[in-house]
Amino acid sequence: MSDKIEVPFQSNLVPTILDLGSKIQFRCHKGISCFNACCRSADITLTPYDIIRLKDHLGKTSTDFLKDHTVPFQMDQDGLPGVKLRTDNDGACLFMTDEGCSVYKDRPTACRYYPLGHMARLNAGEKKEEIDYVLIKEDHCKGHEENRELTIQEYLSEQETAQYDEMNREWEQLMLMKRSGGPSVGKPPEATLQMYFMCSFDMDRFRRFVLSDNFKATYDLEDSLYEVLAKEDTSLMQFGYRLMKQVFFGLRTIPEKEGVWDKRVEQRQEVWEARRQAEIQRQQQMEDQRYSSDSDG
Ligand code: SF4
Ligand code: SF4
Repeated sequence: MSDKIEVPFQSNLVPTILDLGSKIQFRCHKGISCFNACCRSADITLTPYDIIRLKDHLGKTSTDFLKDHTVPFQMDQDGLPGVKLRTDNDGACLFMTDEGCSVYKDRPTACRYYPLGHMARLNAGEKKEEIDYVLIKEDHCKGHEENRELTIQEYLSEQETAQYDEMNREWEQLMLMKRSGGPSVGKPPEATLQMYFMCSFDMDRFRRFVLSDNFKATYDLEDSLYEVLAKEDTSLMQFGYRLMKQVFFGLRTIPEKEGVWDKRVEQRQEVWEARRQAEIQRQQQMEDQRYSSDSDG
């Protein structure tokens, strides 16, 4: 089966779409002539779970990890923020050593998948997404010349992607929903994009936000949930997905405190009234100035 798919490399070829049962010929090992070649030109988009694994590996806060090891980029035309691994000026990953990857146990999803690309697809009328795979063949990668055949399923088990897939699923769903919603979702306001960045990538800042008095006054959550969110990054990350689905798509799964909505409308009305009064005052001042300059003349 052949179809068009976004792939993370430049090519005019229409790649072949593969599934878990498809066979590939590939082997990567330390003795191979191209060892580290892929990490010398790394273009790695990070998922929220990648960041949790890497910042824990390095013993850093998420805020410091983002500052020290990532660069921001826009994931779509609406400016949805994403992050990539920082590289040196020649494009080499900062985690690369002569011995290979220094964060191998916690390496990002994209590094585990390579030389496979994957993308979730939501068929019309279906709730569960399907995953398409493509085989990326780059000239520098000699792993394709190795004499070993295995299925994509076998390759992914070898790379231990299951935990990553599980943790990335809802984030990929969120982006798929946004993509499928197209213009009906529209360009989110700047504050929503900033919130998306915090909920997705900066768990330490997001935790402070969730545990703030302001948040607690707005959302009606059990104390036991707050206790979990206070200490578990992955639970907090998954809670962030729920919050974003609520903010982007109005899927209300996080209960709000009674009267919060009315209070918000009331506060907005106060703001609108204040703006209206300010506008009346501004026009009055302009009128006064006009009359005073007419009478001066
Ligand atoms: S994280 Fe590791 S595997 Fe991924 S690009 Fe960097 S050095 Fe290579
Ligand atoms: S075989 Fe491919 S994936 Fe393995 S080190 Fe060489 S370039 Fe990287």
